[in-house]
Amino acid sequence: MPHEDTAQVIRNAGLRATAPRKVVYEVLQHAGGHRTADEVARLVAEAGKPLPRASIYNVLDDLTGAELVMRADRGPGAAIYEVADAWHHHFVCRSCGAVIDVPCVVGSKPCLDADIPGAVIDEAQIIFRGLCPSCAAHR
Ligand SMILES: [Zn+2]
Ligand SMILES: [Zn+2]
Repeated sequence: MPHEDTAQVIRNAGLRATAPRKVVYEVLQHAGGHRTADEVARLVAEAGKPLPRASIYNVLDDLTGAELVMRADRGPGAAIYEVADAWHHHFVCRSCGAVIDVPCVVGSKPCLDADIPGAVIDEAQIIFRGLCPSCAAHR
């Protein structure tokens, strides 16, 4: 994995390309899919560059704020993080917990408007719930 590229991606997003930011971004990108902060901590440790838990959360916050990483609050349960090119929503299976990406028809946030006088809305993320295809087929 070319480190220069990761550093450039992080700098292009307006952040300093620190070692913790690079390793967290790289393990998330390499692992793919949706990962909790705990999983990210484990992957970072497995990559031979363990970081304190607080640093993992700080770095995930930084990367999410710079929109390099997307965070989904699937609640209940830990938030999940992913490296994503396009803003999207999630389906969470009530039975097995599978997380499936749902494309956003608008593609950028906020894709929904809410009538709250005086409020400034910058994000709307939808969690679809139900049974995933495999659970639905075996009910
Ligand atoms: Zn399922
Ligand atoms: Zn996703």
